[in-house]
Amino acid sequence: MWGSRRDRDRSAVVCIACGESLPREDAREYDKEGDRWSRRDKEFEYLCKECYRELSHQPRGDLEELLTDVETAAGGDSQEAYVEAYQNEVVRRYGEPEADTEDTEGRSD
Ligand SMILES: [Zn+2]
Repeated sequence: MWGSRRDRDRSAVVCIACGESLPREDAREYDKEGDRWSRRDKEFEYLCKECYRELSHQPRGDLEELLTDVETAAGGDSQEAYVEAYQNEVVRRYGEPEADTEDTEGRSD
């Protein structure tokens, strides 16, 4: 058979950090849930090698966990529900954000 050799995965992906597009096989998968081994219906995001190297590997607190919980709480209904759930959850965990009085109060004259 001719030409039956399967093409390697040459589809291009875009680095989420710098926006450069590169072949998927050269990219690093980035899973926002931090679990690259659980692949259920997930779409991975990609980073180019440069950005991957610069990626902070410091712990990010519980932000990722928070986002995942919020997604569950919001039930995936809508972006609006998600944002609302996120805000509620942040307030629940960390308290009301401190208002930037200069911006929100207007001029104080
Ligand atoms: Zn990049």
